[in-house]
Amino acid sequence: MRIDVLGVGFDNVTMAEAVDRACALLDQPGPHYVVTPNPEIVEVCRADGAAAAAVNGADLVLADGIGVIKGAAMLGTPLKERTPGIEFAGHLMGKLAERGKSLYLLGAKPGVAELAAKRLTAQYPGLTIAGTRDGYFKEDGPVAEEIRRSGADCVFVCLGAPKQEKWMAANGEATGAALLCGLGGSLDVFAGVVARAPKFWSDHGLEWFYRLCKEPRRIGRMMKLPLFLVHVRQERRRK
Ligand code: UDP
Repeated sequence: MRIDVLGVGFDNVTMAEAVDRACALLDQPGPHYVVTPNPEIVEVCRADGAAAAAVNGADLVLADGIGVIKGAAMLGTPLKERTPGIEFAGHLMGKLAERGKSLYLLGAKPGVAELAAKRLTAQYPGLTIAGTRDGYFKEDGPVAEEIRRSGADCVFVCLGAPKQEKWMAANGEATGAALLCGLGGSLDVFAGVVARAPKFWSDHGLEWFYRLCKEPRRIGRMMKLPLFLVHVRQERRRK
């Protein structure tokens, strides 16, 4: 049973359990997809029914940020641990390399996915990249077809939320892949274009603040975080 946080059902899993589940999904005929919502995406889902359907329709819903963990605890239904999408992706790539499964990288600005592919194949020996493509395309069909032709077992879909969740729900089948994972800005980090917060910040639940300092234009989006906490408090009172 999933743990409900303001209308988004989260799987109550540790990182190790999440990776095991993803590996099991890879071995079954697809399409399956994984989403990694943070409080901002939960707030988007409250206002956008199609986004909520795409997120809740996933085979695995992982709590990306500390905010979701806090929210779940405040509602009296704690989640086991934080399962950040980017760390999940790292573990999964290790498994893909071990099992000889191939990965397609979709998303980010032109050139970023290729750069990420180069760095990831060096970091995960044995990892096969089936193909790459930037995330600024007009039509979905040809992109899904290109992925299908690449024969990829797994696809990292990095188009930002909720675009990537809707894309996976609508196009997963056409890609022929067993598993798709919506991973936001991860390709930028894998390519070295954007730095992830140092461990100190993430250990103290302050990754969001680090990102805000680096990219002040995110302030509008980040205002969703306090709003999320207000909504959690309201929900707790209602319960
Ligand atoms: N992006 C994309 N196509 C689009 C819009 C966004 O490929 O039409 C990419 C963008 O270049 C970035 C990622 O999606 O690499 C979204 O990153 P963001 O940091 O906003 O995502 P988050 O990790 O916060 O969900």
